[in-house]
Amino acid sequence: MKVAAYYSTVDKPPYVWHDDSNCPTGKQIKDSDKAYGKPAGYTHCKDCNA
Ligand SMILES: [Zn+2]
Repeated sequence: MKVAAYYSTVDKPPYVWHDDSNCPTGKQIKDSDKAYGKPAGYTHCKDCNA
């Protein structure tokens, strides 16, 4: 389901943000590494559109 935009603070390029709670990439982000929002330069994760 759709959720507030989030991203990993320890991500490597290409940087993406997520907005789906079922995203396989997003689910790998640990709670301690998760932040909310859409930082400049980040693009929407392709897997979140599936
Ligand atoms: Zn995603």
